[in-house]
Amino acid sequence: MIQKIDIHLHPIAGDPKMEKYLRIMDKHNVTAGLVHGFPEEGWDWGMSDPNEEVVEAVKAHPKRFYGTVCVNFCQGVDKTLDKIKKFGDKGLIGIKMFPNVGFDPNEDQYEPIWLEVEKRKMLVFSHCGWILPNYKNPAMSLKSVGGASPFHFEVPARRHANINFIFAHFGGGATYLETLVLTSRLKNTFADTCPGWGRWVFENDLPGLKSMVRTQLMYGTDNAGEGYGLDDEWWSRKLTSMGFTYGDLQLYFYENAKKILGIA
Ligand SMILES: [Zn+2]
Repeated sequence: MIQKIDIHLHPIAGDPKMEKYLRIMDKHNVTAGLVHGFPEEGWDWGMSDPNEEVVEAVKAHPKRFYGTVCVNFCQGVDKTLDKIKKFGDKGLIGIKMFPNVGFDPNEDQYEPIWLEVEKRKMLVFSHCGWILPNYKNPAMSLKSVGGASPFHFEVPARRHANINFIFAHFGGGATYLETLVLTSRLKNTFADTCPGWGRWVFENDLPGLKSMVRTQLMYGTDNAGEGYGLDDEWWSRKLTSMGFTYGDLQLYFYENAKKILGIA
């Protein structure tokens, strides 16, 4: 079983410190994972503060779990900076966002946020593409798929070559070509292959995927759990059929994430 790092995990209600989840990871040779908070507004995740849950998991299992704090630029630059500082001080190594809630990361007004992220050597991880509606609270601020694609990060990614930007779900179903374009030009941009769109674009053998830069692609699952075994097999077969060597598979499953997380 190939060694893996899962770049796309979330805290789980009823599994404090992600103890149970860690045992499943052990079984499937997933040696580390990057855990992301959720947006607080609107959704009910079954936990009072998802960002604090991330901190708990990371504190309980350093070197196994790394974490990001979920921020919402709609709350304004000052509040966003406060949150980054608070959770950065608690040991989280990146920020996670859902631009679907109604902001465009390219806007100049957000420059102070990128400066702080760069100063703290944090990474940026963005949801991309369609997002599940919130059935529990239809009033939730969910504007559109609009800002949630790689090109909406072009400005900060060009300005801040030292910040690594990871596009979840391969940049989204309709916008996966933006991932291919940005990653081919900017070494500080990356994508994960998390389901649904991240897997969907590969299932459908969409044009251009073969040219994806091998050092900028990462394995992420949104908590595959016991599905890791099958997943591992499916991705190995799929990527091999696209011309990936065994070395490329190791980059995808493990080495690229290891580097970005700063694992020795
Ligand atoms: Zn996710």
